[in-house]
This record gives sequence, C-alpha cells and structure tokens, in this order.
Amino acid sequence: MSRAAFYEQLDDTLAQIRTDGLWKPERSISSAQSGRVRVDGAADVLNVCANNYLGLADAPKLVAGAQEAMSTYGYGMASVRFICGTLDVHRTLEQEIAAYLRTDDSITFAACFDANGAVFEPLLGRQDAIVSDSLNHASIIDGVRLSKARRYRFATRDLSDLDVQVEAARRDGANHILIVTDGVFSMDGFIADLAGICEIADRYEALVMVDDCHATGFIGPDGRGTPALHGVEDRVDIVTSTLGKALGGGMGGFVAARQPIIDLLRQRARPYLFSNALAPGLVGGARAGLRLLSEGGQLRDRLTANSDRFRSAMTSAGFTLSGQDHPIIPVMLGDAQLAGRFSERLLEEGVLTAAFSHPVVPVNTARIRTQMNAAHSDADIDFAVDMFTKVGTELEVIS
Ligand SMILES: *Cc1c(COP(=O)(O)O)cnc(C)c1O
Repeated sequence: MSRAAFYEQLDDTLAQIRTDGLWKPERSISSAQSGRVRVDGAADVLNVCANNYLGLADAPKLVAGAQEAMSTYGYGMASVRFICGTLDVHRTLEQEIAAYLRTDDSITFAACFDANGAVFEPLLGRQDAIVSDSLNHASIIDGVRLSKARRYRFATRDLSDLDVQVEAARRDGANHILIVTDGVFSMDGFIADLAGICEIADRYEALVMVDDCHATGFIGPDGRGTPALHGVEDRVDIVTSTLGKALGGGMGGFVAARQPIIDLLRQRARPYLFSNALAPGLVGGARAGLRLLSEGGQLRDRLTANSDRFRSAMTSAGFTLSGQDHPIIPVMLGDAQLAGRFSERLLEEGVLTAAFSHPVVPVNTARIRTQMNAAHSDADIDFAVDMFTKVGTELEVIS
C-alpha cells in the first residue's frame, strides 16, 4: 500500500470515531484547577470531574513547595536517576511516601502509568503467574503484557472467581503468584474487598498488589488507602499510586513495597532506567502535599461530607447511582448519546462533568461520572444537584 493510503486510513478511523459518537472533545480551562474553573471562556463553572479529591491542586502551600524546590534545584534534571538525576530530595520524597504508607521504601516514576508498566516485568518470570481483576486500569493491563508471567483474569470483584483462577494458576504449576487489583474501580466508584482478596492469597501463598491511585491520601485511616481501610497493610506486598490525584494533582507515580522489591526495581525497571527523573518542582510540590496529609483530617472530613450530601440528594431526586463510600459517584444513564447530551446541557448550566460510554464502560451503561472534592462548599454541592435535577427532568431521566 502507498504512503498516502496510510494517511487515508487514519482519516477513515477518525471519521468512524466521530460517527460512533465516541469522539472525546477536550475542554480548555483557563484558570487553576479548582472547585470552580473557567471553561471555554465561561467563568465560575463548577467542576465535578477532577481527581482533585482534597482540593490541593491550587493550594498555596503546594505551589510554594514547588517554587522553593525550583529556586534551589532549578527546573529540570536532564538525566535519569542512575546517571546524574538523583537529588537528595528525590530520596527524601521516596522515604516520606514509604513512611506515610508504612512500607520499607518507595521508588518514584514519571507517572503511575509508568510505575504499573515497570513493576511486573522485573519481578515475575515465565514460571510465575499474575491473576488480575478484569476491570483493572489500562496501565496494569499493559504492564502485565510486558512481563513473561502467565496471565489469569478474574471477573471484577468476584472472590469466588478469583479463587478459581488462583487455583488454576497453582494447578498449572505456577511458581510465584501475584494477585493484582485496583484499590478503587474508578468507573464504578466501588472499593475492592482487599480483606477477602488477602484471605484467598493466604490460602495459596500468593502475593498481593494494589493500585491505590483513587485512594491514597483520602481513603482509610489518615488517608493511607484501601489496605489500611481493610486492615491488611502488612499483608499487601506492593502498592502503586500517583502524585497526580489527591496528593496535589501534579505528576509522578510510585511503587511502595518491601526493600528487596524496591531495590530490584531500581536496578531493572525499564521506565525508571530509561526515563527522566521527576522535575524538582514536582518533588517539592508532592512533599508539601504529603505534609498536608498528616494534618489533612479536615480536608478528608469535608470530602466525605460533600460525597454524602451529593449521593443522598441525588438518590432522593430519583437518579440511579453507582458506587459506595467513595467520592466517585457515577450517575447511570445507559444510552451513550443521552449521556453526552446530558453532560453538554450541564455545562451550559455551569457544571463541568464527563460522560463515559463504550469502550470505556460496557455497552449501554453510559454514565456521567461525578467526583466530589474538598474544594466544594455545601452550596456548590446543592447547585450541582439542582442542575442535575433540572437537566434530568428536561431529558426525562427523572420525572
Ligand atoms: C490515574 C490512574 C493511573 C495513572 O496515574 P498517572 O500518575 O496519571 O499516570 C493508574 N492507575 C489507576 C487506577 C488510575 O486511576
């Protein structure tokens, strides 16, 4: 085929995405990420679709932390960690993350996407098995693909299927078995049953890994995440998470685990060995974010109050919601076009949301995923409910 044919093929694919109603437009924000933002020129739009759970994305202490780090260490590292890219504060941040999560050590990456891409291949070989929840994040799926271990998948949050799959891995002669799950399933707002998972893991002497991106900083005691929530911090072998959500929403990811795991990843993990060290500003901002977490009780209380307020009012208004005990509160609509239209109307009414449809969620389960955060006031939550009710009535979702 000709080179021109390649570009024609891309045009066809792009046209198809539009025809299928799956085009993802990007709204342009011209203010700081916060409870209210300026979108496409409209000021003061209520934002209920950010991962800014604790409202720290524009917190003055984080901005100051980033600025301070930049004035000492400059802007960029221009090196991977093992050549000349390791700052003293990189190690400090890694130790602070480990202390917060009560593990031996941690290792940072450019993003949690990279942490998940990095973690499997050095730790597990051909003789080993990975048993993965079917709804795990894309970066886990990609990371698992990069390892030579055998792959098993269990139906999401289905412990009896997990048991069946782990047993199959044992029967097939797996040497080591790693069970991997998201701590929170972000499309649905459900928290994984880590106590149940760890019980099965114990029975088969399996390792356990949790991706806690939608939990670190605000779920469980002191916001230490889903392992702490379920009292299995000692049993979970590996936690991966992000600096890009509750911890300030900057950039960066990490793996937190026992020392030999972290040491081996530093020697062998490809996204660590072959990619730039975190910029000093990101390190300073993340450290300031972590410091706020230790005094973050009020922010977490505010977040819980907002989530409860929204969930209860939306239920009373007659909406069907997914999830439980988490600030991710999906409003289930079913039809993809309806979800898209609903989200557009909400924006016209001053509420920024995101509609999700196939292939991000199963066919005919389109939804608007809302996410509460600590930057919202009671009045903000009530405004969101009022606008959902207005548009929901207009589009005959509720009566
Ligand atoms: C957001 C997210 C990631 C990716 O985190 P980044 O740091 O943005 O790359 C990985 N896993 C889960 C479950 C996430 O929600």
